[in-house]
Amino acid sequence: MPELPEVEVVRRGLAEHVVGRRITAVEVLHPRPVRRHLGGAEHFAAVLTDRRVVGAQRRGKYLWLPLDSGDALLGHLGMSGQLLVQPSTAIPEKHLRVRFRLHGAEGGERELRFVDQRMFGGLAVSAGGAELPAEVAHIARDPIDPLFDDEDFVGRVRRRSSGIKRILLDQTVVSGVGNIYADEALWRARLHGERLGAKLTRPQVRNLLTFVREVMEAALLEGGTSFDALYVNVNGQSGYFDRSLRVYGQEGRPCSRCGTAVVRVAFMNRSSYFCPRCQPRPRSGSPSRPRTRATGALDRD
Ligand SMILES: [Zn+2]
Repeated sequence: MPELPEVEVVRRGLAEHVVGRRITAVEVLHPRPVRRHLGGAEHFAAVLTDRRVVGAQRRGKYLWLPLDSGDALLGHLGMSGQLLVQPSTAIPEKHLRVRFRLHGAEGGERELRFVDQRMFGGLAVSAGGAELPAEVAHIARDPIDPLFDDEDFVGRVRRRSSGIKRILLDQTVVSGVGNIYADEALWRARLHGERLGAKLTRPQVRNLLTFVREVMEAALLEGGTSFDALYVNVNGQSGYFDRSLRVYGQEGRPCSRCGTAVVRVAFMNRSSYFCPRCQPRPRSGSPSRPRTRATGALDRD
């Protein structure tokens, strides 16, 4: 399943290879990926044909292409979706579902192709959605969005009495931080996921946010190496997951900081991984006890 950094890689690819081009033809090869377009496949094709793509935007894992009509082509990759930019002559992919013929001012025909084996993803036209599609307006910005408001995030975390990992996964507080990124960032920040948001200091939350960004940007760099000039690929796992994980999936392996065995516990039908020494569990029954660990830089405000 594409994580947010991979979706951002796709957005950048679209910005480079699709923005500025005119859609000259739309072919829907399977109805399921356009099921959320209420007008149906024919209407979907009709409102997109002869429109120019004027941007490539993202909110969380949703992508949209603002059009010169004021509408937007909105997409979600779901579990297995890919957006590929291919020469029109390239052989159709096995799971090709929707194809858009593009014409650029400098000539040369290309296609934007939506390929999706399992079809949990999809495409729709958001009427008047060029600026911000109504369908995604409820999703909070993510930490690698240039307009993310750090101090607002710090305030929201500190107003919540739930565990910090649960807060990180709450899409109304911050989007795009999945289970893997949460565990990795909490390890770097030396925070146990059950530490309560309301009990964290401002510097602790700011510090955690810095680590969330660090983890996501490292994955973005890895993902950014996986497409070339004409090929935007989201579906491949980025190499980041193999090389750079410190705790996620590392149960029983020594913590790279202190050597203590990494622990796995059940968490919301998934798993949490942490180092029991670097990330001590908050003592239950006395949640207001003062912090006893020296946290160094964390104590600066
Ligand atoms: Zn450790």
